[in-house]
Amino acid sequence: MRHITKEFLTDRSTPDSFRFSMSCSECGKEWNSNPVTFSKAGVEPATEGKRIIFETLYQREKEAALERAVEEASNAFNQCPICKRLVCDYCFLICDDLDLCISCATRLQEKGEPVMQYA
Ligand SMILES: [Zn+2]
Ligand SMILES: [Zn+2]
Repeated sequence: MRHITKEFLTDRSTPDSFRFSMSCSECGKEWNSNPVTFSKAGVEPATEGKRIIFETLYQREKEAALERAVEEASNAFNQCPICKRLVCDYCFLICDDLDLCISCATRLQEKGEPVMQYA
């Protein structure tokens, strides 16, 4: 089941590229999707008609980039089964019975190893 939807992502797109971000509910660290360049980046529309075409193209490509960003975010974040928050790999622990976020693990006195550890 997908635990991340478009609503979770913040739009950081520019006129030339599409990028979305999301923050970990535990540590607040911001994650950014891989930027996708607009196919008409830097191209000046020659006519009013082209301008409208480009704008529509922009919206379409942005929507596609958002879909991809949701996929990427789904890999980068974990949903804690207890508090339902979305946390990054550094804040999510692999425990014996149920994998939990750091806060819940501490509260429930469960021990575990984070999915990723700071080097
Ligand atoms: Zn985190
Ligand atoms: Zn939790």
